[in-house]
Amino acid sequence: MSKIPTNANSIGKKFRTSLLLCLATILLVLFTKEITIWTPFTESIKEEYCPARFPLHASDDLSVQNILHDPEYKQLSIKRLAGAIQIPTVIHDDNPQPKYSPEYYKEWYTFHEYLAEQFPLVHKYLKKETVNNASLLYTWQGSNPDLKPIIFSAHIDVVPVESSTVQQWEHPPFSGHYDEESDTIWGRGSFDAKNLLIAQFEAIEHLLSSGKFTTKRTILLSYGHDEETGGAQGANSISKLLLNRYGPKGILALFDEGAGVIPLKDNKTFVAAILNSEKGYVDLAIKLSGTGPGRTGHSSQPPDHTHIGVAADLISLLEKHSFKSNFKVTNPTFEFLTCAAEHSLGLPRYLQWLISSARHNRLAEYALGRLLDAQESFKYYFKTSQAIDIIQGGNKANALPEYVTFTINHRIEIESSVNETISHFISLAKIIASKYHYSIFLDGKTVINEHPQKELAPASIDIQPIGLLEPSPITPAEGDLWDILTGTVQYIFEDSMGKTSASNLFMAPALSPGNTDSKHFWDVTDHIYRFIGSIVPSDILDTTHSVNEHFVMNHHLQTIAFVHQFILNINTFGPDL
Ligand SMILES: [Zn+2]
Repeated sequence: MSKIPTNANSIGKKFRTSLLLCLATILLVLFTKEITIWTPFTESIKEEYCPARFPLHASDDLSVQNILHDPEYKQLSIKRLAGAIQIPTVIHDDNPQPKYSPEYYKEWYTFHEYLAEQFPLVHKYLKKETVNNASLLYTWQGSNPDLKPIIFSAHIDVVPVESSTVQQWEHPPFSGHYDEESDTIWGRGSFDAKNLLIAQFEAIEHLLSSGKFTTKRTILLSYGHDEETGGAQGANSISKLLLNRYGPKGILALFDEGAGVIPLKDNKTFVAAILNSEKGYVDLAIKLSGTGPGRTGHSSQPPDHTHIGVAADLISLLEKHSFKSNFKVTNPTFEFLTCAAEHSLGLPRYLQWLISSARHNRLAEYALGRLLDAQESFKYYFKTSQAIDIIQGGNKANALPEYVTFTINHRIEIESSVNETISHFISLAKIIASKYHYSIFLDGKTVINEHPQKELAPASIDIQPIGLLEPSPITPAEGDLWDILTGTVQYIFEDSMGKTSASNLFMAPALSPGNTDSKHFWDVTDHIYRFIGSIVPSDILDTTHSVNEHFVMNHHLQTIAFVHQFILNINTFGPDL
């Protein structure tokens, strides 16, 4: 799951010093010949790049009224989602392969049965396949085999609940409790991602229940069983099967978990953040080791620097030289900022102007980049993050440590790469290696072979990259498919929230700082949208993978309506896609 910052409006308040730098830059910009001094404030904040969308609904369609407004339907939906939350499909790291460990996955099999009970029409009319035993793939065969299928995806597993925090939950984590007063449903998976999985089933069950609708295009439902541990067993197996069945890029589009419609701080403007890209990923497992003179032995005669001390120096150097920001207007997050600049009522005027100008003016782009880099909630959308989050070493007070290990987690900036990230580490490790006479090995291959003086035993810094993932391709945020998607969102929100509120709704692509199961599907489709089609308030995002995970039921109904309407709209408006 991904978090989109909503506090674009507060940027100006917190960073007065950055502002000074920017104002200086702005003055420079004002005096460049491309922009006349007084026009920017009136001309550059035109609604040029984030226009309102026309609501789109197929004229002969089945109504989403029932989904959004019928109290009986809502009661049934509450029951269905609550029941899904009550099945604790909790996954831990190092989950075994399902075929060898049926006991580990017994809740998954209960969940499969639960789906069959709750959604009889889906199970009657769609072909169900179990993939790698615990994952699920459903195929709703379209009438036109020439049209590429669409995938709706989510995941069956949920993250564990830390036992020491159970008491902090307002309602028990696997209760699926519905609180009528706040219209919220509670529990692990209520937002990540059983809500989405159940909504996709609900939408198709609803379409089938009319008995009137046939899909021209094949619709696939894809549910991995291990997204929270990387999806290597589940989504990865499903994508291979689909690649084999439909060929490279044989799928039109994939919808997966991600962001939704974000209310901005003015509480009047909404931006549908359609995540069309993801940062890359790599963990570096680092080991400093070496035994013998000057390195290890009895702690009564220590060297000036033990492996722990050297590791500390290296970590300190890493944190002093974190990755540099690479803000560019081509970063998808810039489109989200553009919507805020063109429409938010609370954004300071100078910031509106700076965002609007950045698209055409390198100095404004630079100034905005500096400003955003000072923002905790924005900076990692534009640069690679590094977090040293595991460290181990030493086991006895009177024995010098023979090795130290630590792990650095990286989320790689969209225009960077795994190689560039590793090179950044090596360039700093070389400084430490030369200072303390260590060799460096990357993946077992020599980077530097250091021959220390005779009285000092050899030692090494070993680098093991784990979980390598390049930044994702960027799905185009234009064209017919984009228009059908955004038109569908506009239509659902006009119906759900009323025309006045929906007139302040805008659509933007955006970047996901985290990864979803969609990373396994790059070969099968060029269009990946990590978007759930409902309002997602920021306080709910804060509970993901943490205590008090919950979701608003009326927003859940929006997701159902969105999936329902998108299938209808693509059927009518997308026959040539
Ligand atoms: Zn998830």
